[in-house]
Amino acid sequence: MAEAATVDVAVVGAGAAGLYAALCAAREGARVALVSAAPLAQTASYWAQGGLAAALAADDSAELHLQDTERAGRGAVRRSAAEILVREAPECVRDLQALGVRFDADRFGRLALGLEGGHSVRRVVHAGGSATGRRLLRQLSALVVEEPRVSVWENVRARALWMDGDPTHPRCRGVACEDARVLGARAVILATSGAAAMWARTTNPPGSQGIGLLLAHAAGARLADLELLQFHPTAVIGVRGREGFLVTEAIRGEGATLHDAGGERFVDELAPRDEVSRAIGAQLARTGANSVGLDMRAVDPALFPNVVGALREAGLDVTRELVPVAPAAHYMMGGVVCDLHGRSTVAGLYAVGETSCTGLHGANRLASNSLSECFVWGRRAARAALQEPAPRPPARPALERELKALLALAAPPLADPATRAALWRDAGIERGPEGLERLARDAHPLARLIARCALERAESRGAHHRVDRPERDPALDHRHVVVESDETVAWQRWE
Ligand SMILES: Cc1cc2nc3c(=O)[nH]c(=O)nc-3n(C[C@H](O)[C@H](O)[C@H](O)COP(=O)(O)OP(=O)(O)OC[C@H]3O[C@@H](n4cnc5c(N)ncnc54)[C@H](O)[C@@H]3O)c2cc1C
Repeated sequence: MAEAATVDVAVVGAGAAGLYAALCAAREGARVALVSAAPLAQTASYWAQGGLAAALAADDSAELHLQDTERAGRGAVRRSAAEILVREAPECVRDLQALGVRFDADRFGRLALGLEGGHSVRRVVHAGGSATGRRLLRQLSALVVEEPRVSVWENVRARALWMDGDPTHPRCRGVACEDARVLGARAVILATSGAAAMWARTTNPPGSQGIGLLLAHAAGARLADLELLQFHPTAVIGVRGREGFLVTEAIRGEGATLHDAGGERFVDELAPRDEVSRAIGAQLARTGANSVGLDMRAVDPALFPNVVGALREAGLDVTRELVPVAPAAHYMMGGVVCDLHGRSTVAGLYAVGETSCTGLHGANRLASNSLSECFVWGRRAARAALQEPAPRPPARPALERELKALLALAAPPLADPATRAALWRDAGIERGPEGLERLARDAHPLARLIARCALERAESRGAHHRVDRPERDPALDHRHVVVESDETVAWQRWE
């Protein structure tokens, strides 16, 4: 007989956003279930190297952080979301410290702040040099395991959202998992990462396949800005065992430089990611090479032990040789449309972290704003979720019928190698209408929606570069491409 366990909040995904949302909800007294498909080390959060951005330095301010975020986002940042991030990120850093996360300090015991591309001052808080994600996740997951109000469903994949039968007032009332268990909750918080692993060349773990976007879309939620996929300029290429391994921007912040085949520098290494990625892409196209060289010989290797160690294990000594790097798909700015509390357009359904699209990142995420976003919106969504009404599942036998139908739903598909190759080819650093038209006929539903959004945005802006429309169209400033549940696409202006 099909049964549903009941909690206050069901969180899907145990990266930074999911773990912190679960902890915040539990601290407010909620009973929480945390569903996680993959082991801890296979989350984008665990792999984060640079850190989280917060205006904490004496020469910094929320206003400066806001300006940098807006500049990077190229006229598409939703100001109200960015204001929240820059105001609340410092509080989240302090809360994480109170929770036992040990961030790196300078010799006076003050937080050591790193500089990354697009930031006008040092504001990136890090831990263990470039082991920030690992440190954060180990501590947060240890706390979650100790927290009696959180039950963890590990190695369990969510397959479908449980929706209220009333089509006039659709409400999410829980989530069904692939092991045939069902969770009923006041609210479901999706924290399943972005979709960058759908591209053939990626810095992301294999699970970042837009599963949360597909779950939300199937439940009737709006998605937005799927064409806005950031490419990281410096992912390792051609080093066996380290393909796609990201070399953090913070290393360029400490003085590492990029060189073409002739050994010349060709770009401002601290320019925003889209500019550096396109400059590298142009070099590769011009020379036919598959990489440029990252010279970090002048950088103190002790500052980045995990990058230096990982490359040394692969046989590359960064103190003597240049690192071969090229761009790779890295971060999806688009996602499930959410308000300033992480609420999607479906009642009872929330999204946080890279799954969500609040408009915060505009057309180009500022480095290290995403981990801050995971914490700021993890906490906001947890609090808002607790205001949702308690679920009122139907009585048997209607309940049994509903659960049976729910468990018969197919799980969202993963992208196969053909789709991944198609996304890299047709929706890469540079895109044109022909390739996008082809991609719009791909077998994978999310690849088709990405192509639809990229066709709709007939301009170049931030991470989205259309070869046929190389200029930004000012008429599209602050406008977002929104995909409705029936797959129609419309423009919306978000303030
Ligand atoms: C190599 C790398 C370095 C980065 N460095 C930085 C940095 O320094 N600073 C910064 O701000 N950002 C950085 N980013 C981006 C940032 O790490 C991510 O945007 C952020 O960690 C995403 O967190 P998340 O919680 O949304 O998703 P994730 O951390 O990826 O977690 C997703 C979770 O969802 C689970 N999941 C997925 N599908 C299902 C399902 N169907 N059912 C159940 N569970 C599911 C996964 O198992 C996982 O637990 C980096 C990203 C990468 C890849």
